[in-house]
Amino acid sequence: MVATPTPRVVYDWGMSRPDRHGRPLRNLRLSVTDRCNLRCAYCMPEQEYTWLPKPDILTFDEIERLVRIFVGVGVDKVRFTGGEPLLRQELPVLVERVARTPGLRDVAMTTNGILLADAADDLKRAGLHRVTVSLDTLREDRFRALTRRGGVDRVLAGIASLARAGFRGTRIDTVVMRGVNDDELLDLLDTAAEHDAELRFIEYMDVGGATGWSMEQVVPRDEILARLADARGPVEPLPAADATEAAAPAERFRLADGRAFGVIASTTAPFCARCDRSRLTADGHWYLCLYARLGVDLKGPLRAGATDDELRERLERTWAGRDDRGAEERLRAETRAALVARDDLRDDPRLEMHTRGG
Ligand code: SAM
Ligand code: SF4
Ligand code: SF4
Repeated sequence: MVATPTPRVVYDWGMSRPDRHGRPLRNLRLSVTDRCNLRCAYCMPEQEYTWLPKPDILTFDEIERLVRIFVGVGVDKVRFTGGEPLLRQELPVLVERVARTPGLRDVAMTTNGILLADAADDLKRAGLHRVTVSLDTLREDRFRALTRRGGVDRVLAGIASLARAGFRGTRIDTVVMRGVNDDELLDLLDTAAEHDAELRFIEYMDVGGATGWSMEQVVPRDEILARLADARGPVEPLPAADATEAAAPAERFRLADGRAFGVIASTTAPFCARCDRSRLTADGHWYLCLYARLGVDLKGPLRAGATDDELRERLERTWAGRDDRGAEERLRAETRAALVARDDLRDDPRLEMHTRGG
């Protein structure tokens, strides 16, 4: 019998050298503000925050220039995030400037959807390709409890506006928390289908401001799949269509009715081995891992007059030395609780998920 070779993702390395685990730099999550109009319990549970100083926030010129340099070292996907990206003044203008960068294949945004309905047309015209909307519950009372603000109808109106504006490939991301929203999996799937969107269930992570995180609240991928199979029949794994999809964090599945959905098992089955993403904060600090304690200051050299070549060299050297596999290391920890203490978050706001861009 001939042994079947193990499937292997073959990367085209782009222009950058891979990191120490052979992972290319492909994906840049661009946080355009650390502010938010919600206060999700797993992200911003506190009463007070240390905000990034306004003069430190990168200007559109600075962002556009950095994106061009990042693309020069291999990045071909940019995702606008935050905080809430739609709070950034004139976001469509920035999107337009970034989207025209030669070499960029995919320009996306993750938003909480509250301000989306009024912005969708402008964003589409500006050249944004895809939108992911975060939505954890369909019930207004729960939404209010979870986010300390109201507005599930506004989020749904935002999602509905996407197809009208001409967006395709819309996703809805749901953080699943035991005892909070894990009885809404099917309702959320149905709502996504009504809007021609694909749902992705995300395991609750112990990152940033998730100061109340505990393993008991995590609903593992296998349990999510088992619950869906109980309710809707067999769940079939979908193979990755190409190398880009194989490198993406979501594993995709199909229900018996043909509907596809994804699961991001960041907590119980991390995807560090194929992680090609990094994050730029609104004040120009570059993080190589969601769990990293320290980032690399790009704003300093940028504002001190560094040339494109000097910045490019800094990116390449830093990425080549990248050793991070944060979520895998957390998995090996004997006892596991919230990653960062409240005081540390106040001292270093870039440890927050809403600052480094989830
Ligand atoms: N405000 C926008 C939003 O909520 O879509 C963009 C920024 S938010 C930090 C990006 C994503 O991070 C959201 O989908 C959010 O649910 C996710 N996130 C934040 N904290 C998380 C946690 N502790 N575990 C899992 N996902 C988390
Ligand atoms: Fe919620 Fe996103 Fe705001 Fe965090 S940044 S509080 S996840 S809406
Ligand atoms: Fe990538 Fe770090 Fe997340 Fe692992 S923990 S997938 S290395 S960002």
